[in-house]
Amino acid sequence: MYDSNQTVYQDTIAAISTPVGEGAIGIVRLSGTDALSIAHMLFAGHLEDRRLLHGHIVDPDSREPVDEVLAAYMKAPHTYTREDIVEINCHGGPIPLQRILGLVLRCGARLANPGEFTLRAFLNGRIDLAQAESVLDVVQAKTQASLRLAVQGLGGRLSQPIREVRATLMEILAYLTARIDFPDDEVEEQDIALPLEAAQSALQGLVASADTGMIYRQGVRTAIVGRPNVGKSSLLNCLLRESRAIVTPVPGTTRDTLEEIVNLRGVPFVLVDTAGIIESRDEVEALAVERSRKAIEQADFVLFVIDASEPLAQSDREFVGLLAGKPVLVAVNKCDLPLRAEINRLPWVQVVTSALTGAGLADLENGMVDTVLGGKVVTSDAVMVTNPRHKEALQRAERHVAQARQALEACLPDDFITIDLTAALNTLGEITGEVVTDELLDTIFSRFCIGK
Ligand code: GDP
Repeated sequence: MYDSNQTVYQDTIAAISTPVGEGAIGIVRLSGTDALSIAHMLFAGHLEDRRLLHGHIVDPDSREPVDEVLAAYMKAPHTYTREDIVEINCHGGPIPLQRILGLVLRCGARLANPGEFTLRAFLNGRIDLAQAESVLDVVQAKTQASLRLAVQGLGGRLSQPIREVRATLMEILAYLTARIDFPDDEVEEQDIALPLEAAQSALQGLVASADTGMIYRQGVRTAIVGRPNVGKSSLLNCLLRESRAIVTPVPGTTRDTLEEIVNLRGVPFVLVDTAGIIESRDEVEALAVERSRKAIEQADFVLFVIDASEPLAQSDREFVGLLAGKPVLVAVNKCDLPLRAEINRLPWVQVVTSALTGAGLADLENGMVDTVLGGKVVTSDAVMVTNPRHKEALQRAERHVAQARQALEACLPDDFITIDLTAALNTLGEITGEVVTDELLDTIFSRFCIGK
Protein backbone atom coordinates (compact mmCIF):
# COMPACT_ATOMS: atom_id res chain seq x y z
CA MET A 1 0.00 0.00 0.00
CA TYR A 2 1.09 3.53 -0.70
CA ASP A 3 1.42 6.07 2.02
CA SER A 4 0.27 9.33 0.54
CA ASN A 5 2.01 11.36 3.26
CA GLN A 6 5.41 10.26 2.17
CA THR A 7 7.38 11.06 -0.97
CA VAL A 8 7.91 7.63 -2.44
CA TYR A 9 10.32 8.45 -5.24
CA GLN A 10 13.45 10.49 -4.93
CA ASP A 11 14.50 10.35 -8.57
CA THR A 12 13.77 13.03 -11.12
CA ILE A 13 11.48 12.10 -13.99
CA ALA A 14 11.18 13.67 -17.41
CA ALA A 15 8.96 13.32 -20.46
CA ILE A 16 7.64 15.12 -23.50
CA SER A 17 4.28 16.39 -22.25
CA THR A 18 2.82 17.51 -25.57
CA PRO A 19 1.95 15.50 -28.71
CA VAL A 20 5.20 15.07 -30.62
CA GLY A 21 5.35 16.88 -33.93
CA GLU A 22 1.75 18.08 -33.83
CA GLY A 23 2.16 21.61 -32.56
CA ALA A 24 4.25 24.73 -32.98
CA ILE A 25 5.40 24.40 -29.38
CA GLY A 26 6.36 21.31 -27.43
CA ILE A 27 7.07 20.91 -23.73
CA VAL A 28 9.66 18.75 -22.01
CA ARG A 29 8.75 18.49 -18.35
CA LEU A 30 10.95 17.49 -15.42
CA SER A 31 9.83 16.76 -11.89
CA GLY A 32 11.94 15.87 -8.85
CA THR A 33 14.70 17.08 -6.60
CA ASP A 34 17.26 17.39 -9.42
CA ALA A 35 14.97 19.13 -11.91
CA LEU A 36 16.60 22.51 -11.43
CA SER A 37 20.21 21.31 -11.43
CA ILE A 38 19.62 19.21 -14.56
CA ALA A 39 18.03 22.19 -16.30
CA HIS A 40 21.00 24.36 -15.37
CA MET A 41 23.36 21.89 -17.06
CA LEU A 42 21.55 22.55 -20.33
CA PHE A 43 20.04 26.01 -20.15
CA ALA A 44 22.31 29.01 -20.37
CA GLY A 45 20.61 31.37 -17.94
CA HIS A 46 19.64 31.53 -14.30
CA LEU A 47 16.21 30.02 -13.67
CA GLU A 48 14.14 31.67 -10.96
CA ASP A 49 11.00 30.38 -9.30
CA ARG A 50 7.90 31.06 -11.43
CA ARG A 51 9.63 33.14 -14.10
CA LEU A 52 9.60 32.23 -17.74
CA LEU A 53 13.05 32.77 -19.19
CA HIS A 54 14.14 32.98 -22.78
CA GLY A 55 17.37 31.26 -23.74
CA HIS A 56 19.02 28.33 -25.47
CA ILE A 57 19.39 24.67 -24.71
CA VAL A 58 23.01 23.81 -25.31
CA ASP A 59 24.50 20.30 -25.55
CA PRO A 60 26.88 20.23 -22.55
CA ASP A 61 29.40 18.01 -24.38
CA SER A 62 29.60 19.55 -27.82
CA ARG A 63 28.55 23.07 -26.70
CA GLU A 64 26.29 23.04 -29.73
CA PRO A 65 23.04 25.03 -29.38
CA VAL A 66 20.08 22.66 -29.75
CA ASP A 67 17.06 24.96 -29.71
CA GLU A 68 15.85 28.39 -28.66
CA VAL A 69 13.43 27.91 -25.79
CA LEU A 70 11.42 29.39 -22.95
CA ALA A 71 12.07 27.67 -19.65
CA ALA A 72 10.12 27.87 -16.42
CA TYR A 73 11.10 26.64 -12.98
CA MET A 74 8.42 26.02 -10.36
CA LYS A 75 9.70 25.40 -6.88
CA ALA A 76 8.12 22.72 -4.69
CA PRO A 77 5.65 22.36 -3.08
CA HIS A 78 3.20 24.53 -4.99
CA THR A 79 3.45 22.61 -8.26
CA TYR A 80 1.53 19.94 -10.19
CA THR A 81 3.49 17.13 -8.50
CA ARG A 82 4.42 18.98 -5.30
CA GLU A 83 8.03 18.50 -6.41
CA ASP A 84 10.38 20.90 -8.16
CA ILE A 85 9.29 21.18 -11.77
CA VAL A 86 11.03 22.59 -14.83
CA GLU A 87 9.20 22.99 -18.11
CA ILE A 88 11.14 23.62 -21.28
CA ASN A 89 9.02 25.08 -24.07
CA CYS A 90 10.83 24.31 -27.28
CA HIS A 91 9.85 24.08 -30.92
CA GLY A 92 7.22 21.39 -31.46
CA GLY A 93 9.00 19.20 -34.00
CA PRO A 94 9.97 15.65 -33.08
CA ILE A 95 13.71 16.29 -33.48
CA PRO A 96 14.10 19.23 -31.06
CA LEU A 97 11.75 17.58 -28.55
CA GLN A 98 13.49 14.25 -28.62
CA ARG A 99 16.95 15.82 -28.60
CA ILE A 100 16.13 17.88 -25.51
CA LEU A 101 14.53 14.91 -23.77
CA GLY A 102 17.65 12.88 -24.61
CA LEU A 103 19.89 15.53 -23.05
CA VAL A 104 17.75 15.74 -19.94
CA LEU A 105 17.95 11.96 -19.52
CA ARG A 106 21.71 12.04 -20.10
CA CYS A 107 22.02 14.59 -17.31
CA GLY A 108 20.40 12.24 -14.80
CA ALA A 109 16.64 12.28 -15.20
CA ARG A 110 14.67 9.09 -15.75
CA LEU A 111 12.00 8.72 -18.43
CA ALA A 112 8.62 9.03 -16.73
CA ASN A 113 6.14 6.17 -16.84
CA PRO A 114 2.63 6.79 -18.20
CA GLY A 115 0.75 9.13 -15.86
CA GLU A 116 3.68 9.35 -13.45
CA PHE A 117 3.49 13.14 -12.98
CA THR A 118 -0.14 12.76 -11.93
CA LEU A 119 0.73 9.69 -9.85
CA ARG A 120 3.25 11.79 -7.96
CA ALA A 121 0.64 14.52 -7.46
CA PHE A 122 -1.46 11.80 -5.83
CA LEU A 123 1.34 10.14 -3.86
CA ASN A 124 2.55 13.51 -2.59
CA GLY A 125 -0.97 14.25 -1.35
CA ARG A 126 -1.85 17.18 -3.62
CA ILE A 127 -4.87 15.44 -5.12
CA ASP A 128 -6.77 12.31 -4.22
CA LEU A 129 -7.24 9.34 -6.50
CA ALA A 130 -10.64 10.39 -7.85
CA GLN A 131 -9.17 13.78 -8.75
CA ALA A 132 -6.22 12.12 -10.47
CA GLU A 133 -8.60 10.04 -12.56
CA SER A 134 -10.44 13.22 -13.54
CA VAL A 135 -7.25 14.49 -15.19
CA LEU A 136 -7.72 11.85 -17.85
CA ASP A 137 -11.42 12.68 -18.15
CA VAL A 138 -10.59 16.34 -18.76
CA VAL A 139 -8.17 15.38 -21.53
CA GLN A 140 -10.64 12.96 -23.10
CA ALA A 141 -13.84 15.00 -22.59
CA LYS A 142 -16.16 14.54 -25.55
CA THR A 143 -18.47 17.54 -25.07
CA GLN A 144 -18.62 20.74 -23.02
CA ALA A 145 -20.92 19.00 -20.54
CA SER A 146 -18.45 16.11 -20.18
CA LEU A 147 -15.67 18.63 -19.64
CA ARG A 148 -17.63 20.48 -16.97
CA LEU A 149 -18.17 17.26 -15.03
CA ALA A 150 -14.52 16.27 -15.40
CA VAL A 151 -13.30 19.66 -14.18
CA GLN A 152 -15.65 19.38 -11.21
CA GLY A 153 -14.11 15.98 -10.46
CA LEU A 154 -10.65 17.48 -10.74
CA GLY A 155 -11.63 20.09 -8.18
CA GLY A 156 -12.69 17.37 -5.75
CA ARG A 157 -16.43 17.73 -6.30
CA LEU A 158 -17.07 14.00 -5.94
CA SER A 159 -14.47 13.52 -3.24
CA GLN A 160 -16.28 15.98 -0.98
CA PRO A 161 -19.53 14.03 -0.39
CA ILE A 162 -17.53 10.80 -0.12
CA ARG A 163 -15.37 12.37 2.60
CA GLU A 164 -18.50 13.52 4.41
CA VAL A 165 -19.99 10.01 4.39
CA ARG A 166 -16.65 8.59 5.53
CA ALA A 167 -16.51 11.10 8.39
CA THR A 168 -20.02 10.09 9.50
CA LEU A 169 -19.20 6.39 9.38
CA MET A 170 -15.89 6.95 11.14
CA GLU A 171 -17.65 8.75 13.98
CA ILE A 172 -20.17 5.92 14.40
CA LEU A 173 -17.36 3.38 14.30
CA ALA A 174 -15.41 5.26 16.97
CA TYR A 175 -18.46 5.36 19.20
CA LEU A 176 -19.23 1.65 18.79
CA THR A 177 -15.60 0.69 19.30
CA ALA A 178 -15.54 2.66 22.54
CA ARG A 179 -18.67 0.84 23.67
CA ILE A 180 -17.11 -2.54 22.81
CA ASP A 181 -13.71 -1.73 24.37
CA PHE A 182 -15.00 -0.11 27.55
CA PRO A 183 -18.27 -1.90 28.33
CA ASP A 184 -18.07 -0.98 31.99
CA ASP A 185 -17.38 2.73 31.46
CA GLU A 186 -20.03 5.23 30.79
CA VAL A 187 -19.92 5.87 27.06
CA GLU A 188 -22.48 8.54 26.40
CA GLU A 189 -25.42 7.16 24.42
CA GLN A 190 -25.53 8.36 20.80
CA ASP A 191 -28.12 7.95 18.12
CA ILE A 192 -26.54 6.08 15.25
CA ALA A 193 -29.68 5.07 13.34
CA LEU A 194 -30.22 8.50 11.83
CA PRO A 195 -26.68 9.21 10.66
CA LEU A 196 -26.50 5.68 9.23
CA GLU A 197 -29.67 6.27 7.28
CA ALA A 198 -28.35 9.62 6.02
CA ALA A 199 -25.10 7.97 4.93
CA GLN A 200 -26.97 5.29 3.05
CA SER A 201 -29.20 7.74 1.26
CA ALA A 202 -26.20 9.92 0.30
CA LEU A 203 -24.55 6.83 -1.21
CA GLN A 204 -27.77 5.85 -2.99
CA GLY A 205 -27.99 9.36 -4.48
CA LEU A 206 -24.44 9.12 -5.79
CA VAL A 207 -25.04 5.66 -7.29
CA ALA A 208 -28.22 6.93 -8.94
CA SER A 209 -26.33 9.81 -10.55
CA ALA A 210 -23.90 7.40 -12.18
CA ASP A 211 -26.13 6.25 -15.02
CA THR A 212 -26.39 9.79 -16.32
CA GLY A 213 -22.84 10.73 -15.34
CA MET A 214 -21.31 7.82 -17.21
CA ILE A 215 -23.25 8.78 -20.32
CA TYR A 216 -21.56 12.18 -20.32
CA ARG A 217 -18.13 10.71 -19.70
CA GLN A 218 -18.18 7.70 -22.02
CA GLY A 219 -20.78 8.65 -24.57
CA VAL A 220 -23.79 6.63 -25.68
CA ARG A 221 -22.89 3.82 -28.03
CA THR A 222 -25.58 4.12 -30.64
CA ALA A 223 -26.40 1.65 -33.40
CA ILE A 224 -28.35 3.00 -36.37
CA VAL A 225 -30.11 -0.03 -37.80
CA GLY A 226 -32.80 -0.86 -40.31
CA ARG A 227 -33.32 -2.47 -43.69
CA PRO A 228 -31.07 -1.47 -46.56
CA ASN A 229 -32.05 1.78 -48.26
CA VAL A 230 -34.30 3.18 -45.54
CA GLY A 231 -31.96 6.17 -45.12
CA LYS A 232 -29.66 5.20 -42.23
CA SER A 233 -26.55 6.73 -43.76
CA SER A 234 -28.49 9.80 -44.84
CA LEU A 235 -29.77 10.33 -41.29
CA LEU A 236 -26.30 9.76 -39.89
CA ASN A 237 -25.04 12.43 -42.25
CA CYS A 238 -27.76 14.79 -41.15
CA LEU A 239 -26.77 14.20 -37.53
CA LEU A 240 -23.15 14.78 -38.31
CA ARG A 241 -24.03 17.70 -40.58
CA GLU A 242 -21.29 16.60 -42.87
CA SER A 243 -21.07 13.85 -45.42
CA ARG A 244 -18.55 11.44 -44.07
CA ALA A 245 -20.68 8.29 -44.30
CA ILE A 246 -21.26 6.70 -47.66
CA VAL A 247 -24.71 7.51 -49.03
CA THR A 248 -25.82 5.38 -51.90
CA PRO A 249 -29.11 4.44 -53.54
CA VAL A 250 -27.94 0.81 -53.93
CA PRO A 251 -29.32 -1.40 -51.13
CA GLY A 252 -26.85 -2.76 -48.64
CA THR A 253 -23.65 -1.30 -50.02
CA THR A 254 -22.77 0.24 -46.71
CA ARG A 255 -20.65 -2.81 -46.05
CA ASP A 256 -18.53 -1.59 -43.22
CA THR A 257 -19.56 0.06 -40.02
CA LEU A 258 -18.64 3.69 -39.50
CA GLU A 259 -18.27 5.40 -36.16
CA GLU A 260 -18.57 9.11 -35.43
CA ILE A 261 -19.15 11.11 -32.28
CA VAL A 262 -21.95 13.63 -32.40
CA ASN A 263 -22.79 16.07 -29.63
CA LEU A 264 -26.53 16.40 -29.01
CA ARG A 265 -27.37 18.82 -26.20
CA GLY A 266 -24.06 18.01 -24.52
CA VAL A 267 -24.60 14.25 -24.68
CA PRO A 268 -21.91 12.51 -26.73
CA PHE A 269 -23.46 9.88 -29.02
CA VAL A 270 -21.00 7.48 -30.59
CA LEU A 271 -22.85 6.69 -33.80
CA VAL A 272 -22.32 3.36 -35.47
CA ASP A 273 -23.70 2.92 -38.95
CA THR A 274 -24.50 -0.65 -39.93
CA ALA A 275 -25.66 -2.34 -43.04
CA GLY A 276 -29.20 -3.75 -43.19
CA ILE A 277 -29.37 -6.97 -41.23
CA ILE A 278 -31.63 -9.12 -43.30
CA GLU A 279 -31.84 -10.03 -47.01
CA SER A 280 -28.20 -10.91 -47.23
CA ARG A 281 -27.43 -12.56 -50.56
CA ASP A 282 -23.67 -12.64 -50.72
CA GLU A 283 -20.81 -13.23 -48.30
CA VAL A 284 -19.89 -9.60 -47.78
CA GLU A 285 -23.45 -8.68 -46.96
CA ALA A 286 -23.53 -11.61 -44.54
CA LEU A 287 -20.52 -10.12 -42.80
CA ALA A 288 -22.34 -6.81 -42.56
CA VAL A 289 -25.30 -8.63 -41.04
CA GLU A 290 -23.09 -10.10 -38.36
CA ARG A 291 -21.69 -6.68 -37.59
CA SER A 292 -25.14 -5.21 -37.33
CA ARG A 293 -26.25 -7.85 -34.86
CA LYS A 294 -23.11 -7.27 -32.87
CA ALA A 295 -23.60 -3.52 -33.02
CA ILE A 296 -27.07 -3.94 -31.52
CA GLU A 297 -25.71 -6.18 -28.78
CA GLN A 298 -22.97 -3.72 -27.94
CA ALA A 299 -25.14 -0.61 -28.24
CA ASP A 300 -26.44 1.39 -25.28
CA PHE A 301 -29.14 2.80 -27.53
CA VAL A 302 -30.56 1.91 -30.94
CA LEU A 303 -31.94 4.25 -33.58
CA PHE A 304 -34.21 2.00 -35.64
CA VAL A 305 -34.90 3.50 -39.05
CA ILE A 306 -37.87 2.46 -41.16
CA ASP A 307 -39.06 3.70 -44.52
CA ALA A 308 -42.32 5.64 -44.18
CA SER A 309 -43.13 5.17 -47.84
CA GLU A 310 -43.27 1.35 -47.76
CA PRO A 311 -45.36 -1.12 -45.76
CA LEU A 312 -43.40 -2.77 -42.97
CA ALA A 313 -41.43 -5.70 -44.36
CA GLN A 314 -40.81 -9.07 -42.79
CA SER A 315 -37.24 -7.94 -42.09
CA ASP A 316 -38.50 -4.90 -40.16
CA ARG A 317 -40.33 -7.35 -37.91
CA GLU A 318 -37.19 -9.40 -37.45
CA PHE A 319 -35.43 -6.27 -36.26
CA VAL A 320 -38.16 -5.76 -33.68
CA GLY A 321 -37.19 -9.15 -32.23
CA LEU A 322 -33.53 -8.23 -32.08
CA LEU A 323 -34.17 -4.96 -30.32
CA ALA A 324 -35.98 -6.34 -27.30
CA GLY A 325 -34.69 -4.94 -24.04
CA LYS A 326 -32.76 -2.05 -25.59
CA PRO A 327 -33.64 1.62 -25.36
CA VAL A 328 -34.94 2.29 -28.88
CA LEU A 329 -36.14 5.31 -30.81
CA VAL A 330 -37.78 4.77 -34.19
CA ALA A 331 -37.07 7.18 -37.02
CA VAL A 332 -39.90 6.97 -39.54
CA ASN A 333 -37.84 8.33 -42.41
CA LYS A 334 -38.76 9.55 -45.91
CA CYS A 335 -41.79 11.38 -44.52
CA ASP A 336 -41.61 13.62 -47.60
CA LEU A 337 -43.13 10.64 -49.48
CA PRO A 338 -46.71 9.35 -48.97
CA LEU A 339 -47.02 7.34 -45.73
CA ARG A 340 -47.51 3.62 -46.29
CA ALA A 341 -45.79 2.09 -43.22
CA GLU A 342 -48.06 0.79 -40.43
CA ILE A 343 -46.15 2.63 -37.76
CA ASN A 344 -48.67 2.13 -34.97
CA ARG A 345 -47.51 -1.53 -34.80
CA LEU A 346 -44.16 -0.56 -33.30
CA PRO A 347 -43.74 -0.55 -29.52
CA TRP A 348 -41.36 2.44 -29.23
CA VAL A 349 -41.49 6.21 -29.41
CA GLN A 350 -41.40 7.33 -33.03
CA VAL A 351 -40.11 10.44 -34.68
CA VAL A 352 -41.10 11.29 -38.22
CA THR A 353 -38.12 12.47 -40.27
CA SER A 354 -36.92 13.21 -43.73
CA ALA A 355 -33.20 13.02 -44.30
CA LEU A 356 -33.92 14.59 -47.69
CA THR A 357 -35.71 17.75 -46.54
CA GLY A 358 -34.40 17.90 -42.96
CA ALA A 359 -37.93 17.68 -41.53
CA GLY A 360 -38.13 16.32 -37.98
CA LEU A 361 -34.39 16.41 -37.32
CA ALA A 362 -34.65 18.59 -34.21
CA ASP A 363 -37.31 16.18 -32.90
CA LEU A 364 -34.99 13.29 -33.68
CA GLU A 365 -32.14 14.86 -31.70
CA ASN A 366 -34.39 15.67 -28.76
CA GLY A 367 -35.93 12.20 -28.91
CA MET A 368 -32.50 10.57 -28.78
CA VAL A 369 -31.42 12.63 -25.77
CA ASP A 370 -34.72 12.03 -23.95
CA THR A 371 -34.58 8.29 -24.62
CA VAL A 372 -31.11 7.88 -23.13
CA LEU A 373 -31.41 10.33 -20.27
CA GLY A 374 -35.04 9.54 -19.45
CA GLY A 375 -35.65 13.23 -18.68
CA LYS A 376 -32.57 13.61 -16.46
CA VAL A 377 -30.28 16.44 -17.41
CA VAL A 378 -27.12 17.64 -15.78
CA THR A 379 -27.55 20.75 -13.74
CA SER A 380 -24.35 22.59 -13.02
CA ASP A 381 -24.59 22.12 -9.25
CA ALA A 382 -25.28 18.38 -9.30
CA VAL A 383 -22.55 16.10 -8.02
CA MET A 384 -22.32 13.32 -10.54
CA VAL A 385 -20.48 10.03 -10.57
CA THR A 386 -19.01 9.52 -14.03
CA ASN A 387 -16.55 6.70 -13.51
CA PRO A 388 -17.64 3.02 -13.45
CA ARG A 389 -14.95 2.20 -10.90
CA HIS A 390 -16.40 4.77 -8.51
CA LYS A 391 -19.95 3.57 -9.14
CA GLU A 392 -19.03 -0.02 -8.37
CA ALA A 393 -17.27 0.96 -5.14
CA LEU A 394 -20.19 3.17 -4.10
CA GLN A 395 -22.60 0.28 -4.65
CA ARG A 396 -20.47 -1.99 -2.49
CA ALA A 397 -20.21 0.67 0.22
CA GLU A 398 -23.96 1.19 0.13
CA ARG A 399 -24.54 -2.54 0.61
CA HIS A 400 -22.25 -2.57 3.65
CA VAL A 401 -24.10 0.37 5.18
CA ALA A 402 -27.43 -1.34 4.46
CA GLN A 403 -26.16 -4.44 6.28
CA ALA A 404 -24.99 -2.32 9.21
CA ARG A 405 -28.47 -0.82 9.45
CA GLN A 406 -30.05 -4.28 9.37
CA ALA A 407 -27.72 -5.44 12.14
CA LEU A 408 -28.68 -2.39 14.18
CA GLU A 409 -32.40 -2.94 13.65
CA ALA A 410 -32.04 -6.63 14.55
CA CYS A 411 -30.27 -5.55 17.79
CA LEU A 412 -27.24 -7.69 16.94
CA PRO A 413 -24.06 -7.16 18.98
CA ASP A 414 -22.04 -4.04 18.11
CA ASP A 415 -19.26 -6.07 16.43
CA PHE A 416 -21.65 -7.00 13.63
CA ILE A 417 -22.16 -3.34 12.86
CA THR A 418 -18.50 -2.42 13.14
CA ILE A 419 -17.50 -5.12 10.65
CA ASP A 420 -19.83 -3.64 8.03
CA LEU A 421 -18.81 -0.09 8.85
CA THR A 422 -15.14 -0.93 8.46
CA ALA A 423 -15.84 -2.59 5.12
CA ALA A 424 -17.82 0.47 3.95
CA LEU A 425 -15.02 2.82 5.02
CA ASN A 426 -12.39 0.79 3.19
CA THR A 427 -14.52 0.64 0.09
CA LEU A 428 -15.01 4.40 0.04
CA GLY A 429 -11.29 4.80 0.62
CA GLU A 430 -10.68 2.96 -2.65
CA ILE A 431 -12.35 5.82 -4.51
CA THR A 432 -10.39 8.66 -3.02
CA GLY A 433 -7.24 6.59 -2.62
CA GLU A 434 -6.87 6.36 1.17
CA VAL A 435 -7.03 2.59 0.73
CA VAL A 436 -5.30 1.57 -2.41
CA THR A 437 -3.11 -1.21 -3.77
CA ASP A 438 -0.18 -0.97 -6.18
CA GLU A 439 -2.18 -3.05 -8.61
CA LEU A 440 -5.07 -0.58 -8.65
CA LEU A 441 -2.70 2.34 -9.15
CA ASP A 442 -1.03 0.51 -12.02
CA THR A 443 -4.39 -0.12 -13.65
CA ILE A 444 -5.44 3.49 -13.31
CA PHE A 445 -2.23 5.23 -14.33
CA SER A 446 -1.31 2.88 -17.17
CA ARG A 447 -4.21 4.41 -19.09
CA PHE A 448 -2.51 7.80 -19.02
CA CYS A 449 -0.06 8.81 -21.69
CA ILE A 450 3.57 9.45 -20.92
CA GLY A 451 4.11 13.05 -19.88
CA LYS A 452 0.77 13.45 -18.08
P1 GDP B 1 -29.25 3.13 -45.97
O1 GDP B 1 -28.97 1.97 -46.85
O2 GDP B 1 -30.33 2.80 -44.97
O3 GDP B 1 -28.05 3.69 -45.31
O4 GDP B 1 -29.92 4.28 -46.87
P2 GDP B 1 -29.21 5.54 -47.55
O5 GDP B 1 -29.01 6.62 -46.56
O6 GDP B 1 -28.07 5.08 -48.34
O7 GDP B 1 -30.39 6.03 -48.48
C1 GDP B 1 -30.94 5.22 -49.50
C2 GDP B 1 -31.63 6.09 -50.51
O8 GDP B 1 -32.76 6.73 -49.95
C3 GDP B 1 -30.76 7.20 -51.08
O9 GDP B 1 -31.07 7.34 -52.45
C4 GDP B 1 -31.19 8.42 -50.31
O10 GDP B 1 -31.01 9.62 -51.03
C5 GDP B 1 -32.67 8.14 -50.12
N1 GDP B 1 -33.20 8.79 -48.92
C6 GDP B 1 -32.69 8.78 -47.68
N2 GDP B 1 -33.49 9.49 -46.84
C7 GDP B 1 -34.54 9.93 -47.56
C8 GDP B 1 -35.72 10.70 -47.26
O11 GDP B 1 -35.95 11.13 -46.11
N3 GDP B 1 -36.58 10.95 -48.27
C9 GDP B 1 -36.36 10.48 -49.53
N4 GDP B 1 -37.27 10.77 -50.44
N5 GDP B 1 -35.27 9.77 -49.84
C10 GDP B 1 -34.37 9.49 -48.89
